[in-house]
Amino acid sequence: MKIVLASRNKKKIGELQTLLAKYLSEIEVLSLDDIGFEGDIVEDGEGFYDNAYIKASTVAKLGYIGVGDDSGLCVDALDGAPGVYSARYAGEHGDDAANNALLLENLADKEDRSAQFVCAIACVFPEDVSRAHIFRGTVEGKIIDEYRGEGGFGYDPLFYYEPFGKTLAEMSAEEKNSISHRGKAIELFAEFMKEYEEENK
Ligand code: IMP
Repeated sequence: MKIVLASRNKKKIGELQTLLAKYLSEIEVLSLDDIGFEGDIVEDGEGFYDNAYIKASTVAKLGYIGVGDDSGLCVDALDGAPGVYSARYAGEHGDDAANNALLLENLADKEDRSAQFVCAIACVFPEDVSRAHIFRGTVEGKIIDEYRGEGGFGYDPLFYYEPFGKTLAEMSAEEKNSISHRGKAIELFAEFMKEYEEENK
């Protein structure tokens, strides 16, 4: 079975392939480049689900099983910001250092440090592009004032996960996958695809 993740990020494609292969015997995850898709998909949805659906349905309209994901950090004391703007919180797309610095600046006088990462995965089939199967994963933590750990990416060094006594950046990839928003959403998606594969054998 082939599915297309609406992304050009090789790390994301590889991660999904590895995690899905644990559940499904024959699965191939293709990227936008693999199907010769040259355009940009505009992620202008209001929430994580909308953006995940926009991406997945773009691919499904081309005849593939389309998968889209969107994730971000939601901080309670900032009314859910940076949310869908997580990647471009400080303006420049993908500048992790600037995003983290702005987050700490905006939280400087806030006592409540609770936050959550959210991941939405949408799967859309070419036969029914108006319908999305949505899988959601979250992880709860606290934003700390010092940077801890070298691993991961984005806001990981500031996101403290109490049950492990570590930030996400201090965890191994396996540890992070076992508790992360993305790991949980992918697991739900994998279970769904397993059932789909069995029903369509
Ligand atoms: P994406 O939708 O997975 O590309 O994530 C959008 C943005 O949310 C990233 O650029 C990061 O700033 C933030 N983000 C999402 N997931 C994580 C994570 O696991 N750790 C740290 N930051 C994340």
